[in-house]
Amino acid sequence: MSVSSPTTTTRIVLASRPQGAPTATDFRLEQAALPALAAGQVLLRNRYLSLDPYMRGRMDEGRSYAAPVALGEVMVGATVSEVLQSRADGLAAGDLVLASGGWQTHAVADAASISRHLQPQGLPPSLALGVHGMPGFTAYAGLHEIGKLQPGETLVVAAASGPVGATVAQLGKLQGARVVAIAGGQAKRAYLETLGVDVALDHRAGDFAAQLRAAVPDGIDVYFENVGGHVLDAVLPLLNDFARIPVCGTIATYNAHGVAQPGLDRLPPLFAQVLRQRLTVRGFIITDFNHLFAAFEPQMAQWLRDGRIQYREDVVKGLENAPEAFFGLLQGRNFGKLVVQLD
Ligand code: NDP
Repeated sequence: MSVSSPTTTTRIVLASRPQGAPTATDFRLEQAALPALAAGQVLLRNRYLSLDPYMRGRMDEGRSYAAPVALGEVMVGATVSEVLQSRADGLAAGDLVLASGGWQTHAVADAASISRHLQPQGLPPSLALGVHGMPGFTAYAGLHEIGKLQPGETLVVAAASGPVGATVAQLGKLQGARVVAIAGGQAKRAYLETLGVDVALDHRAGDFAAQLRAAVPDGIDVYFENVGGHVLDAVLPLLNDFARIPVCGTIATYNAHGVAQPGLDRLPPLFAQVLRQRLTVRGFIITDFNHLFAAFEPQMAQWLRDGRIQYREDVVKGLENAPEAFFGLLQGRNFGKLVVQLD
């Protein structure tokens, strides 16, 4: 490393595993020495850190589609990062990349872990963490591959001011569907109307279930599941035969660690409904569809440049503010794609 290269990183590690909702003591801010750069590695300065709902799952132990973060290890996270030094072919100082830089200011990373070179495309680089990256791609792949939405059908999606839901809603309109978009609170509901959806609803309204029923006179053909909880309760009686449910996320239950809550066992009637109405209910992890990314990326860039897809970012400044912003994400306090600006 040259004399001017940073030798330490400021980072946030997992200090303890949360019981229920995470708290400040589950994280620890610390300085750590950066390892020497080995062949095939790059030194990164992280400029933007993505905060995503899946990170709640990584704080828990247990079987999942990805390994938990170990105690004392830096929290995982996608970053838009600048290459400061490179000992890897194809990567040079000054390159802007999409990396798994984690909750820290700097990182030494294997070149193989770099997801994308970010070329200037007339779009803000932070969009690679949102609508033009993993969350936007999640909307695109889940809606096409599982939702199989047809023109004239009715699509319902919640968490619709966030990067997944807002993209689902707008793709639904581009495909000629009737779109009912749901978010928490009046400000978010008003924002959804600017996206051109047919009906925008606030799931916190006391008569939300009745409002949803009125909004779908022909029933629901595709429910893009982002949240679970009381929104799912309101959707289930309104589903049409042969409806499709891409199960993308169930954020209302993330703090419950997948453990059933006391109460009636609702599984038998749910399975009976799946059978009776021949529903397609399919969970997915976006990496299942990586083969479609090459088609998605230029298409979304074009839609963004044309203004056919809108987006909203919620930018928080400073690594030290990441935990509080993350708690807000799990409670709906974010308004748009949540990113932390690190420089
Ligand atoms: P968002 O930016 O939409 O943020 C999450 C939103 O969820 C909050 O803003 C809030 O919106 C809503 N929310 C939070 N807590 C609750 C709750 N208890 N009940 C109901 N709603 C709640 O996040 P993303 O767009 O990044 O992600 C949306 C969903 O997609 C998540 O479930 C996420 O896990 C999932 N996902 C799945 C992927 C996959 O591969 N399967 C990949 C990426 C995301 P509001 O205030 O409007 O209620």
